[in-house]
Amino acid sequence: MAETMTLEPDVGFIRELGKLGGADLKKCYQCATCSVVCPISPDNQPYPRKEMIAASWGLKDQLVADYDIWLCHNCGDCTTKCPRGAKPGEVLGALRAYAVREYATPKVVSKMVADPKMLPILLAVPAVIFIGLGLILKSIGINWLNFAPHGGEIWQSHFINNYLVDIIMIPTFFASIGVFALGLKRFLADIHASALAAGKTSTDKIDVAGIAKALLAVVLTVFKHKKFDECGENKQRSVAHMLVLFSFIGLFIVTNCFFVAEWILHIEGPYSQLNPVKWLGNAAGVALIVGSVLLWKNRLAKKDQSSSYWDWYLVVLVFALGVTGMGTQLLRLAGLAGPAYFVYFFHLLFIWSLFAYTPFSKLAHLVYRTAAMTYAEYTKRQ
Ligand code: SF4
Ligand code: SF4
Repeated sequence: MAETMTLEPDVGFIRELGKLGGADLKKCYQCATCSVVCPISPDNQPYPRKEMIAASWGLKDQLVADYDIWLCHNCGDCTTKCPRGAKPGEVLGALRAYAVREYATPKVVSKMVADPKMLPILLAVPAVIFIGLGLILKSIGINWLNFAPHGGEIWQSHFINNYLVDIIMIPTFFASIGVFALGLKRFLADIHASALAAGKTSTDKIDVAGIAKALLAVVLTVFKHKKFDECGENKQRSVAHMLVLFSFIGLFIVTNCFFVAEWILHIEGPYSQLNPVKWLGNAAGVALIVGSVLLWKNRLAKKDQSSSYWDWYLVVLVFALGVTGMGTQLLRLAGLAGPAYFVYFFHLLFIWSLFAYTPFSKLAHLVYRTAAMTYAEYTKRQ
């Protein structure tokens, strides 16, 4: 006699998906057009149709551990071609947003990052940290916070000392890596268990050497944005993504160079515009602004696709980072001390927010998607 299975839909999960951009998933009538038109879905157990079924049944645990949701590159081809307007591409986006929240801890931060009403509080946190720690240090004679810097050259370190910035930013950066590490550990265990259950792999234990080899292959694919090139709709998104990705890499290199200059070589700024590290910084800053404007433009142009607060949070944060960074420098060069320090303060808040909230925000897809692609490469899922 055939075995009977009882499904218990998680209604709260379906409702959450709706809030995250998957509100139309119930319109799906399982025609499978989406899986056929998807340019990167494999022939074996293709997505996103199976995810549409599971989502409408509210199978939360199965979907959160389904690494196929991360192989989707959100090109929107399936959404454009879906005859029912069920927006499968948006549903997968909502599933990824939900998965990020599931794997990031503490959960309260996840909820806050997903809630627009909490944005002022999220931005107030770094403001309190910078001012609070600055005042505490001041009270013991360490003058790293000066509300009225005057005389001499305009330099942001005269306002908030770079040492104060570093002792706040560095632990935040490593705390963020710790949150990612914990999330990734659970994520890999879950997707492996799910792949075993679905017959996508047969090896019980993950081989670390095999994963490392797969990661090398995937990093190249990510850098070249090869998957984006396979998309039909929204192919041009790869330019914006590449600009943002490479500007972050450039700014990371610049930050490390200036960190060495200050902490090890004891060379204080402001640094000359003729310095090659400055050239890299300026080029990366411009690329960040242009990339974020293109992301913004592409998102507004997606008439048949929806954008949630989750999507906009990232676009606006990246734009704000670029504008306040370049703005600080231009105001400084123009000799406008007050406005330069004012804009710099906001720049610091945005950098801190980028570090602290990335494991809870859409930018986390950089880590989870890379992990999922690595696992797919490892299991030879085409
Ligand atoms: S999401 Fe749309 S295209 Fe995909 S199976 Fe459902 S109705 Fe068909
Ligand atoms: S959004 Fe693009 S990549 Fe993602 S499932 Fe749809 S067609 Fe495939």
